[in-house]
Amino acid sequence: MRLGVVGAGGRMGRMIIRQLAEEAATGVTLVGAVDRPEAPGLGLDAALMAGCGQPIGVRVGDDPVPLFADADAVIDFTSPAATVAHARLAAQGKTVHVVGTTGLADADEDALGLAARHCPVVYAPNMSVGVTLLLALVETVAAALPAEDFDIEIQEMHHRHKVDAPSGTALGLGRAAAAGRNTGLEAVRTLSRVGQTGERETGTIGFATSRGGAVVGDHTVVFAGDYERVELVHKAADRKAFAAGALRAARWAYGKPPGLYSMRDVLGI
Ligand code: NAD
Repeated sequence: MRLGVVGAGGRMGRMIIRQLAEEAATGVTLVGAVDRPEAPGLGLDAALMAGCGQPIGVRVGDDPVPLFADADAVIDFTSPAATVAHARLAAQGKTVHVVGTTGLADADEDALGLAARHCPVVYAPNMSVGVTLLLALVETVAAALPAEDFDIEIQEMHHRHKVDAPSGTALGLGRAAAAGRNTGLEAVRTLSRVGQTGERETGTIGFATSRGGAVVGDHTVVFAGDYERVELVHKAADRKAFAAGALRAARWAYGKPPGLYSMRDVLGI
């Protein structure tokens, strides 16, 4: 499979290029790496830029158009605006598009849905195996513990550079909890609290965000009852968890019919 990476110079882009070097035996070859015209790594060998020991003869460029036309699959951890533009290119090239970018607005997600009519799109705000399993567990536990007896609160902490809040993963966990209770997250979410908030409303799902240091990503879903509390916790220790998941998603989606897929589809959970 011929793979491209957009946002190649970013934290995740570099990690994916390094992970690809470790997974050389899987038959996936890096054929292109793209970043913004003003990105610092432009023109460098992609493997050296990512911190691999050996060059691979692929230079970091700034034009995604030939990349999407040439590659079988492109992995995209960039920004919402860039991802929407890339989705159009993936649709034109019928290229597998693996999207890890978070902070997408509803309209951006609609654009992914439109592109998915023409090419396989795997979209997951968290590509790790552990969080994918957590999503399924949260849905099950939320269905088992009634809203009148158990309040759901979602807590997350990430590194100081993260620009969106709550995290895409926290919102995904909220959607899973809401689905377990046969409702939509929009109807029940409390995204933040400050000042005289009044008492907690039964059936709502609350969010709390912390930012600091180098935390890769911690998520806790709390089911708080009067007499007991259940907590489901995931802690990412290394971005490798997301990079390995993204590569697995690209390999899984290659050859699949057009459609919008999640990591739960990829892992069959
Ligand atoms: P980062 O800022 O280190 O990297 C983003 C990269 O995208 C940068 O190199 C930037 O120059 C590039 N970029 C921006 N606009 C572009 C454009 N138009 N064309 C090409 N490149 C462009 O950020 P990061 O930590 O790597 O995270 C990137 C995204 O991935 C964020 O939305 C983050 O929340 C998300 N993320 C998702 C997962 C997951 O598992 N799904 C895991 C970690 C991070």
